Amino acid sequence: MKFFRMWSAYKSLGFLCVLCASVVNGFAVDREAFSFTNYDLNIRVEPEQHRLGVRGKVTLRNDSPTPQKIAVLQISSSLDWRSVKAGEKAVQFVTQPYASDIDHTGALSEAIVTLPQPVEPKGTIELEIAYEGVILLDATRLTRIDTPVEAANNTDWDQISTAFTAVRGAGYVAWYPIATEVANLSEGNSLFEVVGRWKAREFASKMHLHISVSRDDGEAPQALVMNQASCQMFYEATGPSSVSNADCAYQPLGLTVPTFVIGTYGTVDRPSVQIHNLATHAASAEVYADAAEKVAPLIGEWFGTPREKAQTADLPDAQSATFESGALLLMPLASVDSKLAGLPAAHQLTHASFLSFRPWIEEGLAHFAQALYLEREKGRATAIEYMGLHRFALGEIEETSTVPRSEDEVNRSLVNTTSEELYRSKAMYVWWMLRDMVGEAALKKAIAAYRPEQDKEPSYMQRLIAAETKRDLEWFFDDWVYRDRGLPEFKVESAFPRKTMTDSFMLTITVSNLGSAGAEVPIIIKYAGGEVMRRLEVQAKNKGVIRVEVPAEPREIVVNDGSVPEKDMTNNTFKIEATDK
Ligand SMILES: [Zn+2]
Repeated sequence: MKFFRMWSAYKSLGFLCVLCASVVNGFAVDREAFSFTNYDLNIRVEPEQHRLGVRGKVTLRNDSPTPQKIAVLQISSSLDWRSVKAGEKAVQFVTQPYASDIDHTGALSEAIVTLPQPVEPKGTIELEIAYEGVILLDATRLTRIDTPVEAANNTDWDQISTAFTAVRGAGYVAWYPIATEVANLSEGNSLFEVVGRWKAREFASKMHLHISVSRDDGEAPQALVMNQASCQMFYEATGPSSVSNADCAYQPLGLTVPTFVIGTYGTVDRPSVQIHNLATHAASAEVYADAAEKVAPLIGEWFGTPREKAQTADLPDAQSATFESGALLLMPLASVDSKLAGLPAAHQLTHASFLSFRPWIEEGLAHFAQALYLEREKGRATAIEYMGLHRFALGEIEETSTVPRSEDEVNRSLVNTTSEELYRSKAMYVWWMLRDMVGEAALKKAIAAYRPEQDKEPSYMQRLIAAETKRDLEWFFDDWVYRDRGLPEFKVESAFPRKTMTDSFMLTITVSNLGSAGAEVPIIIKYAGGEVMRRLEVQAKNKGVIRVEVPAEPREIVVNDGSVPEKDMTNNTFKIEATDK
């Protein structure tokens, strides 16, 4: 109750705090100078009050080249700082709101901490912190850029309440301290870039959480689900009070977004997946579990035995956007369709088996696995059609890079990008093309040899694949992975058929690639009574020639079956005039 009074007082004083902000900003604070190398937090969640209270320690490392006397700690604007101490002593700090779309409320509550002494570059300092507040449904960052309220709430569904609690970390709700420059959803890719930089700074960090959820209303303790398999869970109950506890260590954090979910869940437990479902969705949970079991052998074949068991937790609103982090998938089970359930299952099980800190590998392979699943179930054409759904988004963003600037080539490359379209959709195609080029057996071996802790250089994956094939892949990685050279643009320049002594036809086909990225592209030759497919490597801004023998007179040539993402697919068919020679 006290909190709410303070909160409204704080809000009405907003204009005063704007003045505070400009005063503090006068010092030109470097918000990303410090990384958080370690978190050790005790979290108390009280669903009846929508409340979160945190006490604990954070270790900050100065990653800037200059000594730092000021550290910035940011939490969601619906939370308030209570204390900051260094070495048992309270340190001076001022708090201010900081507008940023990295939090669902569109603002952060900053503590600008004056450290007892400057921290040298690479030096660390441990701070003892306390903060508390409420986490309510709040989609301000989306509604203020004119997202319809319903759509906004279906996206930013994080909240603490007795009916259902789900709170995602950095990028959604700053429920643990972060330190970031402003992210603005109305400025293109700004939020993805800020979150991407934050994750990159934090991927080797450690986080230890003790979460306890207390209820005093006599209801049975709810299930607590975390996106970390090693969590120890235990429940205590005395009289009408109950406490659900989780003790979790993220070591390292990797790309995981620490998330907690609390709900009245039933469980469907199968060898490859554990599903936490709301009572009304028990049948859907079985459907999803069946789909996961069915897809598990294919995923095992490609990505090895699972590191941890995949977890799926139900979202109550059927329209809620799904969310994944690590091997945890949050999904409205109400929307599960038995015909399509294998798709999210293939993706999720890949994450449970395979780990990389590089998004183009981690996410690219999980999307590639979905295409593999469709190929196995329904054939290559269906898989390519599915990938084509991603191609639209890809074409849109690659459109701008007809003549990529050199810094864009590097920044937007798969190894560096923070753009989801690139590290999901484009990366999926890259894996598919690699499979087509080097063969399934070689690619599987390279994936099996991958060790995330040995992935210290962007070329590590290329070297693993190179060890399994005689093919030169340098040009391919250059055009698609290390640089963003946009997409290829194929056209059949000419095709000359010649009748052979044995009454078959020898066809000489010249294919040009006007794009700045090379590829090995399938070529389909249709003749009376059938068709054949061959593959031809065509380098960027270059031509390739292939000779193909067909048993009857060729009628038509199609370059690219859709497995190579291309700018314009409308000019890929070439009709062959009747020869009669
Ligand atoms: Zn994923």
